Amino acid sequence: MTTAPDWDALLAADREHVWHPYGPMPAATTQLPVVAAQGTRLRLADGRELLDAMSSWWCALHGHRHPAIDAAMHAQLDVLPHVMFGGLTHEPAIRLAQRLVDLTPPGLEHVFFADSGSVAVEVALKMALQAARATHGEGRTKVLTVRGGYHGDTFEAMAICDPVGGMHSLFTGALTVHRFGPTPPPGGLDSPLDDAWAAELDALAERHAGELAAIVVEPVVQGAGGMRFHSPACVRHLRALADHHGLLLVLDEIATGFGRTGALFACEHAGVAPDVLCVGKALTGGALTLAATLCTPAVARAISGGDGGALMHGPTFMANPLACAAGLASTGLLLDGAWRDDVARIEAGLREGLAGARGLDGVADVRVLGAIGVVQLDGPVDVPAATAAAVERGVWIRPFRDLVYVMPPYVTTDDELAQVTDAVTAAAAAGRVGCGA
Ligand SMILES: *Cc1c(COP(=O)(O)O)cnc(C)c1O
Repeated sequence: MTTAPDWDALLAADREHVWHPYGPMPAATTQLPVVAAQGTRLRLADGRELLDAMSSWWCALHGHRHPAIDAAMHAQLDVLPHVMFGGLTHEPAIRLAQRLVDLTPPGLEHVFFADSGSVAVEVALKMALQAARATHGEGRTKVLTVRGGYHGDTFEAMAICDPVGGMHSLFTGALTVHRFGPTPPPGGLDSPLDDAWAAELDALAERHAGELAAIVVEPVVQGAGGMRFHSPACVRHLRALADHHGLLLVLDEIATGFGRTGALFACEHAGVAPDVLCVGKALTGGALTLAATLCTPAVARAISGGDGGALMHGPTFMANPLACAAGLASTGLLLDGAWRDDVARIEAGLREGLAGARGLDGVADVRVLGAIGVVQLDGPVDVPAATAAAVERGVWIRPFRDLVYVMPPYVTTDDELAQVTDAVTAAAAAGRVGCGA
């Protein structure tokens, strides 16, 4: 028998030694201790269970510890949990690369495995810069993107995040200055192209084409930059603009990939295929960290025929076999297409369940796309108050800025979804700063 851990002591040590995301040291708040996860639920040290309405930050799309993913990892663990990838290869990486080539839009044939989403974005940027140098010579060292984006926390990824909402002001002078067009105007899947927005992007590309290697955006959904949705027509316009100026189109589907928006990849809503695609987050179904950058043969040829003759990147844990086995199992669960019905069902449940939040004092907008539900307040959310209101109702959420939002696992039942939307509505009411609740 093992003795139960002393959680008071552990949490004191957590506060003293362990840094949490975007947090001060020591932490301003105490974190909730999780001891187990199963399906849609997290179990806390005190025995309470919470529905993980965040899918652990977009990752656990089949819920936690799906038996197929667990079994694949156990089998892999017993034979080859890790080996270096330089000069060596292994079946999980080969099979997962084939799977990704099959699942992603046509034309993407080559796969570079990275160990996190941010690194996949760095690799995409290196691909774009190396390909541009090989094709156009020196000088094309910048990219065109839009405001409101989020692409990760490493330096070059940070440099293309929204310059105001992101962290640019803390690193003034240390970041590459890229070119930013306006945020894509809010829109649904059928909204027409906003001509004024398109004209601004056109003018920006025209003015800076000589220094640009690529256009880089999140298609249809801007995630951590503000949970905004825009028309696929914007993505089609950027595809045409990239082609017009000989730029690569790099799409960051690290959040949107693997069905979250109702299409397997969000760019399918636009009928557009990128030259370079980043995937991550849900790639392993939330089991382990893994991401990938895919590209077309034309991009690969340019890089491989250019200076150095190689893509200059190679993480130590590249294509970790255990993570690839999890990725193969998780993507395998998507093959029968049943996720489509689940995402459609969750979309309908979120629309219905969040409709009441629209009338609340202080709610600026309620929007739903696929298995993503967003309640936007008219000011910053009181995060501890909002989180506490949801936890009281048995639901885990993590609001940020003016947003209370959820992206539940696809296996969330209708009853669980009702619990989630009730909790989000309560959190939005409680989280309004100055409401005194
Ligand atoms: C989360 C995210 C990233 C960064 O991924 P990490 O694994 O956190 O490094 C990049 N782009 C988008 C769109 C994301 O949502």
